[in-house]
Amino acid sequence: MDETAAHRKRIRRLKKMILGTVTMAILIPIVICIILGVRVAVLSDKTKELTAQLEEERNKPEEVTGVFSTAYIEESKREEEIEILTKEKPAEKTEYVKKIYLTFDDGPSSSTNEILDILKAYDVKATFFVVGKTDEASKEAYRRIVAEGHTLGMHSYSHKYNEIYQSEESFKEDLSKLQEYLYEVTGVWPRYYRFPGGSSNTVSRTDMQALIAWLNENDITYYDWNVASGDAVNGQLSKETIVNNCLAGIGKQAECMILLHDASDKGSTVEALPEIISQIRIAGDVCFLPITDETVPIQHVKEKTTQDN
Ligand SMILES: [Zn+2]
Repeated sequence: MDETAAHRKRIRRLKKMILGTVTMAILIPIVICIILGVRVAVLSDKTKELTAQLEEERNKPEEVTGVFSTAYIEESKREEEIEILTKEKPAEKTEYVKKIYLTFDDGPSSSTNEILDILKAYDVKATFFVVGKTDEASKEAYRRIVAEGHTLGMHSYSHKYNEIYQSEESFKEDLSKLQEYLYEVTGVWPRYYRFPGGSSNTVSRTDMQALIAWLNENDITYYDWNVASGDAVNGQLSKETIVNNCLAGIGKQAECMILLHDASDKGSTVEALPEIISQIRIAGDVCFLPITDETVPIQHVKEKTTQDN
C-alpha cells in the first residue's frame, strides 16, 4: 500500500512538473514578444525623429561661386571683426546685392541669450522659429526676441513629428496652441511658420497640401531654407565647417535663408555665429534682415493651385 501511495505521489509531482513546464513554455515567449513589441515601437519613433533631422540637413550647400569664397575665412578676434564691420558697413544704403535671413529653429534654449547677445553686438536682426516651453527663462527669451526687433516665428508646440504629423487635426491643434501661447506671453500674434523637417519632409502621415492650404487660409506664411549650416547633424560639427557651409550656400542666391539651430547641444552654432556674420559681410554686399511680410517665401513645396493639375 505504501508503495502505491508513493507511486501516486510521484505521478502527481510529475504531472505538476509537466504542467509547470508547459505553462512556462507558453508564457515566456509571450512576455518576450511584448517586450520586443515595445522596443520596436520606441525605435520606430526614434527612427522617424532621426529621419526628420536628416530631412532638415538634406539641402546641402553647393559649390562656392561668385564673390563669396571660403578663402576669406581666417581666425580673427571678435574686436577686430567689429572694427572691420563698422568701417565696411555702408551708411544710408538701401539697395544690397544679397538679403540674408538668419533663422534659428528649435529654441528657446540655454543658448538663446548668447545668440541674442551676438546679434545685438553685430547689429543684426534675425528670425526665431520657436517651440512651446512654459518655464520662466523661456518666456523671458520669447519676450527678449520680440523686444530686440527679431521676428518670432513658430515651429510647432511639441516638435514631436509623430504627434504633429499624425493627422490634420493634431497639426492644427499643435500650431494653434503655440500661436495662442506666444501671443499670451509676448502680445505679438505670430504669423510666420517653419515646418519641422521642412515642407518637403517625408515623415508626415498627413497630406502636406492640406496643411499648406490650412496655413494659407489662416494667414500663416511658411518659410523653408535655401542654405543649410549643417549644425543639426549631430551638434559636433566644427565651427569652421558651419561657417564654410553658410558661405558656400549663399554663393548663388540673392535671397538667402540660412538654417541654424538654437539648441543647448549646438554649442558650435553659437561659436560660429560671429564668424558667419562677419565673413558674410566681408565677402559681399549684403544686409541681414528678419522675416517680414516683404520677405519672398523660400518654400520647398508650394501650394498646388487648380492650374497645376
Ligand atoms: Zn526643428
